[in-house]
Parts: sequence; C-alpha cells; structure tokens
Amino acid sequence: MSVSNAYEIARQEFDHVADMLDLDEEARAFLRDPKKEYHVRIPVRMDDGSLKIFDGFRVQHNDALGPNKGGLRFAANETIDTVRMLAMKMTWKCSVANIPLGGGKGGVVVDPRDLSVGERERLVRGYVRALFPAFGPRKDVPAPDMGTNAQDMCWFMDEYSILAGNYTPGTVTGKPVGGGGSLGRTEATGLGVIICVREAMKQLGIDSTKTTAAIQGFGNVAQYAAIHFIKMLGGKVKCVSCWNREEKKSFTFLKEDGIDPAFLMSITDAYGTVSNEKAAAAGYQVLDGDAWIKQDVDVLIPAALEKQITAENVGFISPNVKILAEAANGPTTLEADAVLRERGMFVIPDFLCNAGGVTCSYFESVQNDQNYYWSVEEVLEKLDYKMSTAFNSVYEMSVEKKAYMRDAAYMVSIKRVADAMRYRGWIK
Ligand code: GLU
Repeated sequence: MSVSNAYEIARQEFDHVADMLDLDEEARAFLRDPKKEYHVRIPVRMDDGSLKIFDGFRVQHNDALGPNKGGLRFAANETIDTVRMLAMKMTWKCSVANIPLGGGKGGVVVDPRDLSVGERERLVRGYVRALFPAFGPRKDVPAPDMGTNAQDMCWFMDEYSILAGNYTPGTVTGKPVGGGGSLGRTEATGLGVIICVREAMKQLGIDSTKTTAAIQGFGNVAQYAAIHFIKMLGGKVKCVSCWNREEKKSFTFLKEDGIDPAFLMSITDAYGTVSNEKAAAAGYQVLDGDAWIKQDVDVLIPAALEKQITAENVGFISPNVKILAEAANGPTTLEADAVLRERGMFVIPDFLCNAGGVTCSYFESVQNDQNYYWSVEEVLEKLDYKMSTAFNSVYEMSVEKKAYMRDAAYMVSIKRVADAMRYRGWIK
C-alpha cells in the first residue's frame, strides 16, 4: 500500500510503540492498516444547474472495542491517506478515553466555503446515500470535524432516518441540541484539552493561575480552549491565530495582558476569519501567522491543522514552554517530535488531548439510545471524570515505564484494543 506523509507518521508512531510493547505479529497485522475503506463519488446538483461530482471517503480502522466512531471532514486537500491516519488515531483516541467505540473517519474533497447552504445540504445527503450500508448506531457513527458542523450532522441523521425508515438519532453525533444532540458537545473538545492541561499542571506542580498560553487557531476547539484556560485555570491566553480568507494567509492576534475570547468571537465572520481592523482597533497586535509558536509562554496549544510544528519551526519554541497540549489532530511532525522528545518537553499527545469531543459524542449516543437527555452539569461532570482519568492513566504509564507521554498514551490504548481483539478471538 503506498502511503503519504500523514499516514506514514501514524504508522511509524505505531511501529515504534508496537516494538516498545513487544506487540505480537497478529495484533500488528490487524492494527497497522484499516479494516475497511470506502471511496465513493457523490453527484450534487449545483445552484447554477450544473452537476458536480465529489470524492468521498470513509475509513473504518478497527472496531474491536465497539462501533467505529469519528468525524466527517470537508477539506479541499483531503486524501485517502489523511483519512486513514485520522481513522487510526480515532481507534487510539476512543481506547485511551476508555469508551466502548472503535476508530473511523470520513472526508469529502471539497472546500466548504465554496458551497451554498443548499449545495451543502445536498452534498451531506448524497454522502449518506452513497454510504448508507456502512453506517448505523451499531456500525459506524460519524460526527462533526474540520469543515463540518452540527447542522450537517442533523441533515445526516435525517437522511439516514429516511433511508432506514426509522428515526435513528444515534447514527451520528454532534447534532444540535433539540435535534438529538447533547448539551455540552460544542465546548467538549476545547474543555477536554484544558482538563488535561489542569491535570498536567497538578502533576508537574505548576500553579495554573500564574500561567500563560499561546494558541494556534480560533475555531471551535481553540475558542473553548481559550475560554476555559482563563475560566477554569485562571491563566492568561496571550494569543490566538486564524486563517484570513481574503488575504489567504493566517495572522496571530496578541495581547500581552491577555486576549478576550468573547470579544474576538464577536469580530469573527461566518467563515471563521477574525477582523484584523477591529482587532487592531481594540489594541491587539496583529502579527504573522506563525508568531504564536515563538511566544514566551508556559503552554503551547496547537488547535488548528495537522503538521504545524515542523523541523523548521520547532526551534522557535521558547525554553520556558512547559507543556505542549496538542488540541489538533497530528499537529507535530515526526522530525519535530524527535526534537521535543530530546528536549524533555511534556507533551499531551493529540489523541488524548482532544478526546473530549468523542467522549461527549459517546454520551450523546448513550442519551439517544435511552431517549433521555441529561443536564449540562451532568454531561460536563462525566466529561471531567473521563478526561482526568484518561490523562492520569497515561501519566501513570509514563512514570512506570519512564516513557515519553506520547509513547505512554499509545501503550495504554494499543493494549486495550489488542486485549479486546484477543477476547473476541480475532488474534491469539
Ligand atoms: N472529530 C472529532 C475528533 O476528531 C470528534 C469525533 C467524534 O465525536 O466522533 O475527535
């Protein structure tokens, strides 16, 4: 199987830990590549009357622990390899969070900003029609991800329910509240990141109220990470960054005495671009997109895309940074990771750090099954318990095995999946 960089990274990380775990050949053979892959072509009637055909993927990496679970991305540069890498990460993510779900991921090659609302709805419904037999509450359950949102999930649920002839809310999560969704889902990923940071600070003996953070990104995850870094930890967020749609480059918005996430959200347009003019008028420094990584802060939180910390820019990370909390999926390249490992950086690896989203998705599917919905307090209390337990199980493994946190997270998750495969009789 030919592989591109993103997938090769996930595989190499896997091989490295499989060696450390002394994982047997049968488990390796199962886990190194996905169990099932779908590639479909989705015809969509565009508003101007033309027909466009979009490539769509769904990859089901492993379902030993339960139904496949993972987001659906709309991204212009999507490939089967990015989807494979992310599906594999979902297997580790669900396992490390200790929820009874497997790993999957979907993607459509499209820049969602090019679609009208009607085209977008037809694309989502077309994706469901093309892949209907692959999905279901006990088979594979998508969720929002880069480029998709709660409304898309509700169209997904509706189309699936029509085809199934049954109201089936549990076939997709991240739906709007009132449309089968769970309270707390919108903030769950960003909040989960900060719960991990809080636990890390406890273990490292850091007073969170005296800390600062620099965040890359200002999408859903970054926004709630910023909000809770301030609210839950009492720390200061020095900057966030964001992609500017018109200028086709990103910018960093910095305020030495701390940014105000609510204000920045109020000057963000529907496409996620923060207004440079309004930010500057409110006293923010508007800097280059990569300025976030150069800040003298305690915590760095990449919360945007994959492959953002590279061999070229890892040297810019200040020696004062104590924690790297990987809120995005795969933000650090293998080369950059080798440097961080050498430096002794305390890394909260992506599939642990951002597991709050899928954990809340799990709660949503449980509520869908029960047809009984919990209060936001109940959801967030359960989320806190799950995320802090997950963090501490990895931390304990890292102490016990004297392992880098990323390796420890892989050890915890691969072992659970391999055990489940053994119990089910898939391997010896
Ligand atoms: N897309 C999110 C992730 O990468 C959430 C997945 C889910 O909720 O199923 O973790």
